[in-house]
Amino acid sequence: MNDCIFCKIVKGEIPSQKVYEDEEMLIFKDIAPIAKIHLLCIPKEHFAYLSELNDGRRALLGRMIEKIASLQAELGLKDGYRLVVNQGDSAGQTVKHLHIHILGGETLPWG
Ligand SMILES: [Zn+2]
Repeated sequence: MNDCIFCKIVKGEIPSQKVYEDEEMLIFKDIAPIAKIHLLCIPKEHFAYLSELNDGRRALLGRMIEKIASLQAELGLKDGYRLVVNQGDSAGQTVKHLHIHILGGETLPWG
C-alpha cells in the first residue's frame, strides 16, 4: 500500500531506528514510546489484521515471535518483555499494517 507509513519505513522512504532486519521482518523503535523500551516488529509484507493470516503469514508470525525471543538480551529485555498486538480502531491500532509492540525495560502494569 503506497500510503502505509510502515511500508514506507520498510522501503527506507521514511527513516526509522532499526534494531533488527532480515528479508521478511523489521524491528525498530516506536517513535512514541510508552515504556522504557518500546519496539515494533513488523512483517515486510503489507497486511493489516490477524484475520488476514494464511499459512505463510501464520508461519511468519511465529518466526517473528521466535526472533524477538532470540534477541531478548540484545534488545535489552533480559528481565522480561510484553508483546501486544492491537487489532482495530477500538483497540488503538493506529497503523493498519500488522505490528507487534515489544514493551519492556521496566515494570509494566500487571508486572
Ligand atoms: Zn504497510
